[in-house]
Amino acid sequence: MLYIDEIFGPTLQGEGKYAGKVSIFIRFAKCNMTCSGFGVPYDGDKQGCDSFHAVDTIYKNFWQKFDKAGVVISKLENLSKSCDVVVTGGEPLLYWDDKQFQKMLKYFVRKKRRITIETNGTIDIKLDKKWQKNIVFSIGLKLFNSGEPKHKRLNTKALNNIISYTKNVYLKFVIDNAKANEIIKEILAIQSLFANTDIYLMPLGHDAKNVELHSYITAQLAIKYGYNYSDRTHIRLWNNERKR
Ligand code: SF4
Repeated sequence: MLYIDEIFGPTLQGEGKYAGKVSIFIRFAKCNMTCSGFGVPYDGDKQGCDSFHAVDTIYKNFWQKFDKAGVVISKLENLSKSCDVVVTGGEPLLYWDDKQFQKMLKYFVRKKRRITIETNGTIDIKLDKKWQKNIVFSIGLKLFNSGEPKHKRLNTKALNNIISYTKNVYLKFVIDNAKANEIIKEILAIQSLFANTDIYLMPLGHDAKNVELHSYITAQLAIKYGYNYSDRTHIRLWNNERKR
């Protein structure tokens, strides 16, 4: 069964390698982490990431259930038959072993649509089909500032598996102004494990004001270490508005 928080678009991919590309999004519900360290307030005194509505089960009554890939594909195709497809969450790789999830991915790969999975990279998935090489993996690795313990947020076996099997994969890190020194140390340590993998740095922030606050140091670090800068265009334009 596929649990989906929202299907929306066309809109702009706001971050990562394909920032600025017109895309449709499917946001899967459920995650294996909570990332309270990102400090986005919700439901009174709780804190989480900017996708808390796809993560916290208190919102489960709003999640839609699908047991047929065909229905999901139709909903996406009704939004656009040509632009990029972004599979996000929550943690979409929780559904990797679901036949309907695979069917949906395969459909868009066969249609030659660029399909990107945005994942936290902690789930060791089985990659053994040739068409799966054409999926783009955007891996938003979590660092200490996520509030998650290291053994949970860094799974080198899972990462090596994706990096070695697929053709188009990159790592994304969120930069927090106040913790930049410790963050960059952790990124450098991770980079040494995955040489030759593209790295994108993007500013922390669930609204335009915070993205602005963290973007200068993010740009400085990207230049200093030869990484790529990724803005968060959707947040600058629409804050954390749903379906944007
Ligand atoms: S891994 Fe991603 S979706 Fe899950 S809680 Fe952390 S930031 Fe949110």
